[in-house]
Amino acid sequence: MIVQDRLYIGGELVAPSGSGIIEVINPYTEQVAGTVPDSTEADVDAAVAAARRTFDTTDWSTRPVSERAEILARASALIDGRMDEIAQLISTQMGSPVGWGVFGQVLAPKMILDFYAGLGDYEFETIRAGMFGPVAVRREPMGVAAAIVPWNVPMFENVIKVAPAIMAGCTVVLKSAPETPLDAYVLHEIFAEAGLPSGVLNIVPGGREVGAYLVTHPGVDKVTFTGSTAAGMKIAAAAGELLRPVTLELGGKSAAIICDDADVSTVVPQLIDAGLMNNGQACVAQTRILASRSKYDEVVDALTEAVSALVIGDPLDPATQVGPLVASRQRDRVLDLIDQGKNDGARITTGGGRPDQDKGWFVDPTVFADVDNSMSIAQQEIFGPVLSVIPFSDEADAIRIANDSPYGLSGTVWTADADHGADIARQVKTGTIAVNHFAMAFGAPFGGYKHSGLGRELGPEGMEAYLETKTISLDPAAG
Ligand code: NAD
Repeated sequence: MIVQDRLYIGGELVAPSGSGIIEVINPYTEQVAGTVPDSTEADVDAAVAAARRTFDTTDWSTRPVSERAEILARASALIDGRMDEIAQLISTQMGSPVGWGVFGQVLAPKMILDFYAGLGDYEFETIRAGMFGPVAVRREPMGVAAAIVPWNVPMFENVIKVAPAIMAGCTVVLKSAPETPLDAYVLHEIFAEAGLPSGVLNIVPGGREVGAYLVTHPGVDKVTFTGSTAAGMKIAAAAGELLRPVTLELGGKSAAIICDDADVSTVVPQLIDAGLMNNGQACVAQTRILASRSKYDEVVDALTEAVSALVIGDPLDPATQVGPLVASRQRDRVLDLIDQGKNDGARITTGGGRPDQDKGWFVDPTVFADVDNSMSIAQQEIFGPVLSVIPFSDEADAIRIANDSPYGLSGTVWTADADHGADIARQVKTGTIAVNHFAMAFGAPFGGYKHSGLGRELGPEGMEAYLETKTISLDPAAG
């Protein structure tokens, strides 16, 4: 059991102001895996003050960006030696199968660090022609960024916010999720060893009240949030009252469009990964499988066979493909949604209940056929191992169904005609979509349409979300 009894504030491990603790429960053993302090408002005040001081009174924000890039590159290299440790730590907190976790939970964040480390020559000031003479367009760091993250891919979420904020020259107060606060301690160790100055990264584990307090804190200049759409709306409203810039990465219910000419035997294994990765607890999961009526039975049969063969078990066993869900409340929520699907008339072809495990918050990986897109299982984000196969009559119908969602985060198109696939992708109202594979491109913007979010992370755009823009009309006589 891991006991963290202090908080990383101002580059040091300091005693929390209160005595509350958060117990991290291992979703497989249902036992306490670790504890961290439950941050109080006073701890948030101290963390924001440290971030403020570092931003306002040190040379951090004015250092050459190449120096900041070197810190990220060193942090990435340090992850190499701790890959398995981090993957296991995350699996222990939230049940991610460790085999997937090494890639999704550790290598992916490392790749994000590498991408931002590659922006060491980013030009923060460029010259344009103005009305009377040259104009300097400057990008300046916003200041103190409040970063609030969910539990499903915690290191990924920490890094997707902290790395671009560092490159921008901001300082950060990171509120880790109460389910997964332990890996943020490792991240701080790594950054400190990589040479990140004290006070650039400050971490306050806590629940939603601590998060809400941080969002409106007077010392914060920018808010970046990843989590549920419901919480995102509250945060946007609070930030709106203050006209505080906010980036929101929210939920998803993404469609995989399987065209008539697609080879089902190659598509289905990829959709198993893209739909059920991380036990289905992925915002980008391809959970609405759209199949043409002529291929419908073939798709349902192939998915059913593949899903029913998945290995369920201990997430720390590398052979496991589906682990437990993060919490008993999440397990119950998913089972409720499965019941709603049954009551709405959808047909379960595999799964639908709880597997025969003597412990752990498991839900059977489940496939629903005969799903109408208006059913709750097709409209709501389930965040569990549940796929819905929805028939379409023609391509226009497929695009209509894909777009008939409150969300617009991810998506895929599967076809023998790559160009035509890209044409279909252009018509789907979503922030990211891939043809004949599933991927997130870390050098390109990522984010959501509609209720999936506001603003973009990743790519240079993800860093620019932490930058203000200033125009200086230079002395025309000097030019
Ligand atoms: P959640 O919204 O319950 O919590 C997310 C984080 O916000 C936690 O740290 C929580 O303590 C905090 N929080 C909750 N309410 C808050 C409030 N009012 N003010 C400030 N902070 C608050 O979400 P979750 O259950 O932890 O995560 C799952 C959700 O995250 C899913 O909807 C998933 O799709 C989404 N997600 C989105 C992305 C993306 O990039 N779009 C990535 C991962 C997860």
